[in-house]
Amino acid sequence: MDSRRPLLLSIDFEDWHQLVHRRLGRADWDRRHPDFPRHVHAVLGLLDELGARATFFLLGMTVANYPELVAEVVARGHEPACHGYAHVRVHAQTIDAFSADVARSIEAIEGTTGRRPSAYRAPAFSINRRTPWAYDVLAELGLTIDSSQYDSPRVPDRLGAIPAAPYRLRTQGGRELWEYPVATWGPLPIGGGGYWRLLPGAAIRRGLHEFGVLYFHPYEFAAEPLRADVPPRATVRQRVLAESRSAWRNTGRGRLVPQLREVARTYRLVSYDQVRDDIARHYGTRSRALSQEGGLV
Ligand SMILES: [Zn+2]
Repeated sequence: MDSRRPLLLSIDFEDWHQLVHRRLGRADWDRRHPDFPRHVHAVLGLLDELGARATFFLLGMTVANYPELVAEVVARGHEPACHGYAHVRVHAQTIDAFSADVARSIEAIEGTTGRRPSAYRAPAFSINRRTPWAYDVLAELGLTIDSSQYDSPRVPDRLGAIPAAPYRLRTQGGRELWEYPVATWGPLPIGGGGYWRLLPGAAIRRGLHEFGVLYFHPYEFAAEPLRADVPPRATVRQRVLAESRSAWRNTGRGRLVPQLREVARTYRLVSYDQVRDDIARHYGTRSRALSQEGGLV
């Protein structure tokens, strides 16, 4: 019997070049990029090596560009979930625009995989105090799990007082969703991203706990450094943006894979759908509601 404790593994399936090239204003930002299949195969290979499964939060516009990769992700045993369509922050959208974006993404995912996603993650964890209505939209669209809460200083106007373990979330409209928050350790957001590239591995492992959520992106698993291509006749501002985006993502990037291998010695890395019944049993009595001010009570 496997004595390792379960840890929830999630991958935000989005094409780094597509997002950065859009930000840089390249006319061809939306075309397929040859690096993305390599990034996805790097993560799939590592998950096979570790005997791990993950929940893949699929970005709709990336699904549209790479349907064959999405089919492969699901064929290899991973769970398809929803990351919205165009990667626009929730607090930059109206309710109707947000609802249309998520619905369009669900449709793309269902059309490509034949499976309707049950879990959602907002771009850049962007459900905040200004957008408590987002949870009602998600529930209306048939989603049953949200995994957008991350108590990180990089999230503006964030909810605060986010529980460390999964819990039932009552929406302002009286609906219910499960929330699987991304792992934190005290004030440190240790669920993924820069913290995995910068903090000592021992500190991260000490802070992890059963049913915590880890999140990564395919581009973090490939060996070669990332490089954004500036548009022809780029301005100084565009060059600086391209350089800084690449430099931030490349710092410490070789450290993620060995750290995840180390974590997998003591934790069983699982997808949400593998353990949702266990979570309901363990945490079914824990609940929070969204107040009229948008905070958790
Ligand atoms: Zn994202």
